[in-house]
Amino acid sequence: MSLKVAVIGGGASGMMAAINCAYTGAKVVLLERNDRVGKKLLATGNGRCNYTNENMKLDFLYGEDHLFIEKVMEKFNRDQTVEFFEKIGIVPASEGDGKIFPLSFQSSSVLDVLRYEMEKVGIEVLTDSYVVEIKKEKDFLVKLKEGKSIRGDRVIVTTGGRAMPVSGSDGNGYGLVKPLGHGTVETTPALVQLKLKGDIFKQINGVKFVGRVVLYIDGKRTKEDFGDVLFTDYGISGPPVLQISREAIRAQEKGIDTRVRISIISGKTKEEVFSYLKERFKNFPERTLDFGLVGLINKRLILPILKELDLDKNKVVGSLENREIEALAEILTSWEFPVIGNKGWGQAQTTAGGIMTKDINPDTMESKLVKGLFFAGEILDVDGDCGGYNLQWAWSSGYLAGLSAGSL
Ligand SMILES: Cc1cc2nc3c(=O)[nH]c(=O)nc-3n(C[C@H](O)[C@H](O)[C@H](O)COP(=O)(O)OP(=O)(O)OC[C@H]3O[C@@H](n4cnc5c(N)ncnc54)[C@H](O)[C@@H]3O)c2cc1C
Repeated sequence: MSLKVAVIGGGASGMMAAINCAYTGAKVVLLERNDRVGKKLLATGNGRCNYTNENMKLDFLYGEDHLFIEKVMEKFNRDQTVEFFEKIGIVPASEGDGKIFPLSFQSSSVLDVLRYEMEKVGIEVLTDSYVVEIKKEKDFLVKLKEGKSIRGDRVIVTTGGRAMPVSGSDGNGYGLVKPLGHGTVETTPALVQLKLKGDIFKQINGVKFVGRVVLYIDGKRTKEDFGDVLFTDYGISGPPVLQISREAIRAQEKGIDTRVRISIISGKTKEEVFSYLKERFKNFPERTLDFGLVGLINKRLILPILKELDLDKNKVVGSLENREIEALAEILTSWEFPVIGNKGWGQAQTTAGGIMTKDINPDTMESKLVKGLFFAGEILDVDGDCGGYNLQWAWSSGYLAGLSAGSL
């Protein structure tokens, strides 16, 4: 008789686990609390699903046990992922920055082919099935909210983390496995917008520019990224901000001094901007300061910057002292703001922290505490940068958990 495997959670890692488990010949049932699977997958990559990255580097994945991550990733890497998706119908496409999308640039295509494959290999998908308890007896008893229960020889837990709770992953999975002995590394939102200290944000809300965001933790330059930045009424947003948010939030929530320095004029040092401003102001010395910066930076930033530096907007640029031009050059290349919070789980794209990986076998994804219990995906203490790394983790860990649960 074939093994019966219950997969809890119909997200990216759950579907991947279910399919690869069914390939082994196991009888697989997938339990999803929503009325359909893959709700979050549809939202990925702005609806385009950035499902992996050409420059897949392990440095872009984080967790307390990095060796664990490396061991899992080497068993199902980027190339195997692209190949798997090609086999089920997804043609890979890249826009030159390494991010890989389906050529259709539609997340729904990825979900469609996964659902088709699940049907093809005979997976029983039970939606509206909210698991509330996993009991280890001789086999497993999986209890549903509605009162029903399901038995399985093995269970794979793929309930996701806490990011985007409206998609169904609201952190309830941690509670499901706690009675089985599985502890959690503290969770914080990651890949999320940052709230900054300052009273100018209402005024500059909506200003966009291409710049560098540098994170300073306890005075140390820790991480930086470059790209489209957006000032908002609470602070900053945009890809470089999401990219540094993990470290920023973990430090700020521990009460460590956490700051960002933003360069509005990209690719120039403070000294270069100083020389440029000296030259610029020499060319039209009669202009007032508020007009003197027009054409160089977004107009809406001029008055807040002058206010910040306590410079009179009516002062003519020809009369500026070197130290004043230096202060301008400093703020244009390194405008500093303390980080005071983040936009929370509703906006976060992933979860830093999660189920401790020291209790999981990286060769199989099986629990070291409960035989027959497997894990995959964001529920674990593994998260990645923006760029397809989180989904790659879901595919790699899902593949391994599914294969092992069906064949061990
Ligand atoms: C807006 C957004 C955009 C993103 N874009 C990208 C991107 O382009 N590239 C990338 O790599 N990553 C991206 N991510 C991250 C990526 O989507 C996740 O890391 C990944 O989907 C995690 O997969 P998972 O299967 O572990 O969890 P999830 O996809 O969260 O799936 C978990 C599933 O379990 C179900 N569930 C939870 N509890 C129970 C329960 N008790 N019983 C039954 N079912 C349950 C949930 O309803 C859910 O369907 C994005 C995330 C967000 C929020």
